[in-house]
Amino acid sequence: MPGRNHLFVPGPTNVPDRVLRAMHRASEDHRSSAFPALPKGIFEDLKKLFRTESGQAFVFPATGTGMWEASLVNTRSPGDRLLAPRYGQFSHLFIDCAQRLGLKVDVLQTPWGEGAPVERIEEALRADTAHSIAGVLVVHNETATGVTSDIAAVRRALDAAKHPALLYVDGVSSIGSLPFLMDEWGVDAAITGSQKGFMMPAGLGIVCMSPRALAAQSTAKCARVFFDFADQIKQNASGYFPYTPSIPLLYGLRESLDMLLEEGLENVYARHHRLAEGVRKAVTAWGLKLCAKESKWYSDTVSAVMTPAGYNAADVIDNAFKKYDLALGAGLSEVAGKLFRIGHLGDLNELMLMSAIAGAEMSMRDVGMDVAPGSGVAAAEEFWRKRAAQTKVKAAA
Ligand code: PLP
Repeated sequence: MPGRNHLFVPGPTNVPDRVLRAMHRASEDHRSSAFPALPKGIFEDLKKLFRTESGQAFVFPATGTGMWEASLVNTRSPGDRLLAPRYGQFSHLFIDCAQRLGLKVDVLQTPWGEGAPVERIEEALRADTAHSIAGVLVVHNETATGVTSDIAAVRRALDAAKHPALLYVDGVSSIGSLPFLMDEWGVDAAITGSQKGFMMPAGLGIVCMSPRALAAQSTAKCARVFFDFADQIKQNASGYFPYTPSIPLLYGLRESLDMLLEEGLENVYARHHRLAEGVRKAVTAWGLKLCAKESKWYSDTVSAVMTPAGYNAADVIDNAFKKYDLALGAGLSEVAGKLFRIGHLGDLNELMLMSAIAGAEMSMRDVGMDVAPGSGVAAAEEFWRKRAAQTKVKAAA
C-alpha cells in the first residue's frame, strides 16, 4: 500500500527520524576507553526523566515485563507479602509476575475503568499493624483501559497508615509522557521500557530504584542472575555493563533523551495533555464513551473507546488496518471486542493524530456504527485550532 502506516497503538510508538538515524550505527567495542561516556550520560539524564535526585537508574536489554521482575527479585524474598490493586491487563500481569516469583499478593479487585483505590489501599495498610506487607504494586497508567492513577495519593495513603512498605510503580506508558515525580511521590521502584514515551523500539528495560529499595538487596533472597542489580552497580559505576549491551539501542536512548530534554519535560507533558484532550473531544462528538469511568482517571497517553452493544471493536480495528493502513490498539482480555484504543504518546503532533481520528471515524462508519461523518474530526480540529495557536505564541515569547 503506498503511503505510510499510521501507528496508533499505545506502544510501540513512532520512532522519530532523529532516533532512527542515531541507532543506525556500526558495532563498536563496548569495553573501549571511549565507551563509558555514553552510558554515564544516559544514567544521569534518565534521573531527570524520572524526576529523581537520589534514585539510581538501570538499563537492561529487556522490556517492561523484565523490569517488573528485576525490581521484585532484587528487593524481595520468596513468601513476602505484597498488596496490589488489579484494574486492567497490566496490573493483572504485574501481579501474575510477582506470584510466579513466589510472592504472596493481596489483590484488591477493582473494576476495569477505575484507577488505584486509594482508600482501600490505606485501609489494608492500616489493618496490617504487624507491617507484614512488604510492598505495594501500582500501575500508574493502565494502558489496557486508558486510566491514570493518582500515585501521589497512593503515597499519602502509605504515609497516613505510617506503613513502611516499598512502593513499586509501573510507569511503562507514563514515564517520558506524563508527569512522573519519583522523589516527590516517594516511589521506590519506577519501571518502564523503551517503546512508549521514549519513542524507540522495544528492547530496553529501564528501572529506577530509591536508596531504600537498593538497601533491600542485602536481605532479598529471590534468585537473580541476569537481573541482579549488584552486577550492574559494580560495572555501571565506570560506564560499563556486566554483559554485552545493545549499542544501537543505547544510541537511540541518548537521542531520545536529548529530544525530550530539548522540548522540556513540562512541554512534553502539556503536549500530551493537549493531544489527549482533542481525542476526547472527538470521542464525545461521536457519542461514545471512554472505558475510564471518571474524568480524574482520563489518560493523556491512551484513550480506550467503548463500542456500543452489537458492534465488535475488533472489526473496527481490522477494517481500519486493512482499508486505511491505520493501526489502532485492541481491547485486551476482559475488554476484548468491547473497545478500541487510540495511543497518543511519543513523537506526535495534532495533524498526525488527526489521521487516527479520521481513520477511526471512517472505520466505525464502515462497520455500520451510527457516527456522524466528520464529527470527531471537526471537534478535534476546533479544539486544537485554538490551543495550538496559544502554544505557538507561548513558545515564541
Ligand atoms: N505495563 C504496562 C502499563 C504496559 O502498557 C506494558 C506493555 O504494553 C507492560 C507493562 C509490559 O511491557 P513490555 O511489553 O515492554 O514487556
